[in-house]
Amino acid sequence: MEFLSPGSWPDALAARSEHPDAVAIAGGTDVMVELNFDRHRPPALLDLTRVPELAEWSRTDDGGVRLGAGVPYSRLMRELADLSPGLVMAARTVGSPQIRARGTVGGNLGSASPAGDCHPVLLAVDAVVEAASVRGTRTIPVADFFTGVKKHALEPDELIAAVLLPPGNGLEQFAKIGTRNAMVIAVTSFGLALHPGRQAVGAAVGSAAPTPRHARKAEEFLAAALADDGLWESRGAIPASTAARFGDLVAADAAPIDDVRGTASYRRHALSVLARRTLGWAWSDYQGAAA
Ligand SMILES: Cc1cc2nc3c(=O)[nH]c(=O)nc-3n(C[C@H](O)[C@H](O)[C@H](O)COP(=O)(O)OP(=O)(O)OC[C@H]3O[C@@H](n4cnc5c(N)ncnc54)[C@H](O)[C@@H]3O)c2cc1C
Repeated sequence: MEFLSPGSWPDALAARSEHPDAVAIAGGTDVMVELNFDRHRPPALLDLTRVPELAEWSRTDDGGVRLGAGVPYSRLMRELADLSPGLVMAARTVGSPQIRARGTVGGNLGSASPAGDCHPVLLAVDAVVEAASVRGTRTIPVADFFTGVKKHALEPDELIAAVLLPPGNGLEQFAKIGTRNAMVIAVTSFGLALHPGRQAVGAAVGSAAPTPRHARKAEEFLAAALADDGLWESRGAIPASTAARFGDLVAADAAPIDDVRGTASYRRHALSVLARRTLGWAWSDYQGAAA
């Protein structure tokens, strides 16, 4: 197996273009499992760990964050807790300290698993994937990135350069159900972001459909219900019936299956609970921010 180890981003893109059948490897926490179990034997590996540009994050002109695809979870947790609290909540639930020291958001996106923990939050905050090749750079809204089970919208000669996180307001949540607290693939997961400035709601489910996806009807219902009751302005308590309906719509927006980790009906039930619970947490943060 050929091992390509570029030391710069232009060299990495050139190598990608010359070897579109090479498998990129960042933290290797997904790729090495595939290789060790002999599920896949690619002709070449394209090591991205020596590309300094991928390991950086920076503030964008609009106040958001450009997160290099190769920043490991452990750094994300230390450095972005204030700027991207939802993604940090998700990062904290990934694997174990060893996995979080190596694993990256770029790798999570690259695997495009329906159960990837970053995805519901990235969807809820309307993040954008920055994809690059020797042909140039383009942006892909995360909502358009997942195209099927473990499939994504990258072209064969493209790599993920970064994830663009819009300016946040701290009103983000992530919750995950697993069979235990650590080292567990989500039975189901849920990401929520409240956007009072534009009176909008971001809500997305993981491990509950062929791809991670928005819960669109639930988003629309909640944004309208909060507006109708004047709650975006007053920050008053959300009626229990509104929270319950939101949970029901999230469950209805999902398309889960029965599998070894859980049944479809359990997943729907769990999602309705996670949706109500995270809404309560985010709303109480919103109320607290006004005090
Ligand atoms: C024990 C264990 C526990 C785990 N627990 C969790 C968990 O709780 N939650 C969870 O979501 N995941 C979990 N995972 C899966 C894995 O850790 C994550 O998906 C992680 O984010 C992968 O990142 P990585 O950098 O290691 O990716 P890699 O393994 O290096 O790559 C993964 C995929 O992304 C592609 N890729 C990587 N970087 C790029 C790039 N810049 N551009 C294009 N493609 C790229 C690779 O080609 C490959 O297809 C676990 C894995 C293990 C082994």
